[in-house]
Amino acid sequence: MPPRPYILAETNWKAVKETRFDVAVLPWGATEAHNYHMPYATDVIQCDHVAAESARIAWEAGARVAVLPTIPFGVNTGQSDIPITPNMNPGTQLAVLSDVAASLAQQGVSKLVILNGHGANDFRLMIRELQPRTSVFLCTMNWWTVVDPKPHFVPGDHAGDLETSVMMHIAPDLLLPLAEAGDGSQRRPRVAALREGWAWAPRRWTQVTRDTGSGDPAAASAEKGKLFFELVTKKIGGFLVELAAADVSDLYER
Ligand SMILES: [Zn+2]
Repeated sequence: MPPRPYILAETNWKAVKETRFDVAVLPWGATEAHNYHMPYATDVIQCDHVAAESARIAWEAGARVAVLPTIPFGVNTGQSDIPITPNMNPGTQLAVLSDVAASLAQQGVSKLVILNGHGANDFRLMIRELQPRTSVFLCTMNWWTVVDPKPHFVPGDHAGDLETSVMMHIAPDLLLPLAEAGDGSQRRPRVAALREGWAWAPRRWTQVTRDTGSGDPAAASAEKGKLFFELVTKKIGGFLVELAAADVSDLYER
């Protein structure tokens, strides 16, 4: 496959020096157990594919978008007793993000989208802290919430129907057969407010889950994954086109 001009890791100085990039996309995953049947890099692989396909759509519509390499480490403080789970604390993520944004500012890329692929990463507070200190416009999204997943998948937020279906579409060779997967059931909190969800505390993963999954993957299929992936990337691609053309100093209607 020839180098894709919108994937920074594949393109080259010859192409980059001739291009005025409007938007950089920084996909950010995690490396962690995903039930028994999916690879540790699931969040990274999903980020890679969602970012690449969204950028392809935007590029073909004329937007100059550069996808940076996916950062493979996420916030995994709740999985410290699961081998082998490299944690990157939110404070470290902020430092990384600050350096990336500072580089882009020096190099004339004025907009940065953080494409999040892991539930415990949350870039909103980091953006609130960093935005006043950088000229680069910052925004973020969780790719799996771009399109409402409820009509498509059995509920679950880790290694369940949604993620398994998407992986069956983009990286089927890395999955074990569904018969090898656990049912992704969770233990319910004893405290009512935590059970009902209006009080929040991070989950201690080994206490809450049985197989590291949260959500039953049994109903997953490549067809569902393909449909959802296409809906999500089409929407993000359209957003990248709109953002590339937007004047970020004049974002609101009069
Ligand atoms: Zn995941």
